[in-house]
Amino acid sequence: MQPIIDAKDLVHEYSRRDEEGNVTGINRALDGVSLQVKEGDFIAVLGANGSGKSTFAKHLNALLTPTEGTLYVGGMECGDHTKDLDIRKTVGMVFQNPDNQFIGSTVQDDIAFSLENVAMPYDQMKVLVEEYSKKVGMYEYLSREPSSLSGGQKQRVAIAGTLVRHPEILVLDEATSMLDPQGRNDIRTLIRNMKKENPDLTIISITHDIEEAYQSDHVIVINKGKVVKEGTPDDVFSDEVLMKKIDLTIPFYKQLKNELEKYGIDINGVDNIDELVDRLCR
Ligand code: ADP
Ligand code: MG
Repeated sequence: MQPIIDAKDLVHEYSRRDEEGNVTGINRALDGVSLQVKEGDFIAVLGANGSGKSTFAKHLNALLTPTEGTLYVGGMECGDHTKDLDIRKTVGMVFQNPDNQFIGSTVQDDIAFSLENVAMPYDQMKVLVEEYSKKVGMYEYLSREPSSLSGGQKQRVAIAGTLVRHPEILVLDEATSMLDPQGRNDIRTLIRNMKKENPDLTIISITHDIEEAYQSDHVIVINKGKVVKEGTPDDVFSDEVLMKKIDLTIPFYKQLKNELEKYGIDINGVDNIDELVDRLCR
């Protein structure tokens, strides 16, 4: 099966300019990224600040043009600008700052806004807005002003506004980084439920939330514009040296697992404390 995202030697260079606009240097934000994503996978992208993650995300939505290399999204080439609108229909993006993503004066208007762009009859729109607000647990809030919501609720509305247009790929660019632990937890649960309900939806989450990354199907680590590691969460979080290098803490469960493995105790498949005690006392 053709991968839904296929990047080959993708390079992106930003020009540095002085106050008069003269180019004074080049900043290579992506330095030969090659990766493939299978349809329906939940991918976590990790990496220190400034490593090129958002630059990669913007390419997925045809907001930037590759300097070198190729990128295909849903079989369409990004950078060949004839397909930009189709690519943007395929990829829905949710960004870091929940306050920058509202246009409507109520939650309802906000979710509907992306549908107004496709000129849908009111009744049909209303049904969809209700359906998607329920999916993200925000049905009770449809007539509320977005400004009265918590950060986590705002991001849930932003996700509903994106999903209501049926994108094939949902990209979350640090969508939980400004949220409190409760908000973060809500989004983790939401992702889990979305995946269950819609197994074909591909999710790319750029995140610093280690617990979220641990639940993904596949982790990609980007450092200084290059993919430096990818694999299952278990593989990637076993590389303690790399995790330290990119300033990431290993999830608590994985730390415990790594430590116990040093004593020859395997806790694979253990997912609650009773089972753990049972395994340790064996
Ligand atoms: P991340 O999302 O991993 O923090 P970014 O993709 O935002 O990283 O940035 C990668 C590099 O590109 C950084 O060095 C950043 O300073 C630079 N950069 C990002 N956006 C621009 C821009 N619009 N113009 C010039 N340089 C930029
Ligand atoms: Mg970023």
